[in-house]
Amino acid sequence: MSNSVSLSTNNNHNPLSHDHIRNFVAAENCLEGKTILVTGAGAGIGRVAALTYARYGATVLLLGRTTSNLEAVYDEIERLGGKQPAILPMDLEKASYDEMQKLERLIDNEFGQLDGMLNNASILGNLTPLEMYDVDTFAKVMQVNCTATFMLTQALLPLLKDAKNGSIVFTSSSVGTHPRAFWGAYALSKQAVEGMSDIFTQETQNTTRLRFNCINPGGTRTNMRAHAYPGESPMSLKTPEDIMAGYVCLMSDESIGVRGQVVALQPKD
Ligand code: NDP
Repeated sequence: MSNSVSLSTNNNHNPLSHDHIRNFVAAENCLEGKTILVTGAGAGIGRVAALTYARYGATVLLLGRTTSNLEAVYDEIERLGGKQPAILPMDLEKASYDEMQKLERLIDNEFGQLDGMLNNASILGNLTPLEMYDVDTFAKVMQVNCTATFMLTQALLPLLKDAKNGSIVFTSSSVGTHPRAFWGAYALSKQAVEGMSDIFTQETQNTTRLRFNCINPGGTRTNMRAHAYPGESPMSLKTPEDIMAGYVCLMSDESIGVRGQVVALQPKD
């Protein structure tokens, strides 16, 4: 995958550099008229992405495991005067493909469109050598981070392909781009996610305007990061709010024509 942005063959928009994406200055209401689904919207980066998309005018569909967390985000969106969101409780470890297809029909009936999907929900699993990695944990991490991400994306594709300028964003990690010892199933699941975005891109770029990209947020102050690096001071990290420019850019029409990229929001020079 190149570090510059490929031109799609079926539109004439200018490519953007990754610097432009990470430093994007969003116009007020740049997501107006869009309906965007965020997985893992109840906490961490997903929560802030949902609030941010709502702030820029999107109708946000909040998908996640813990309904009380989603309700809190719903209330925050209402408080800030955003479009009425929707709560979609779903445990990606357990949800069937049938439930995901029902969700596609429900979104179609209730909203009539789906313009964006942020695949953000993930679990860390264990930081352990593969030789000793618990196989049940391995399966669970692959299910949540990779298999369910694929299933939900495929189930929602009909609506996303119908969108005028649809955008699907996956979430990777530095260990998805460069596998690292002890990161086990998490690293492998993120490598698979980067591959999934790349394959979807190759398979669709000449037939649909729907675009697929990955974000690597970089070290960010959340519960997951605190579990992965218990000795680290959270204050040394960027907050989810600090990294939202790239999340907004890839959902907005600014990034039409940006396809198959892995955009690191905090690249190490
Ligand atoms: P958090 O652990 O803070 O939040 C994860 C979210 O995913 C929570 O809302 C959680 O729901 C949800 N989730 C977990 N399991 C499931 C499930 N089975 N079904 C539905 N939802 C589920 O993680 P971050 O915000 O830190 O991470 C967000 C993304 O960014 C992840 O993909 C992560 O891999 C990636 N990332 C994060 C980095 C960081 O430094 N923070 C660095 C690199 C990548 P619930 O509310 O129930 O807990």
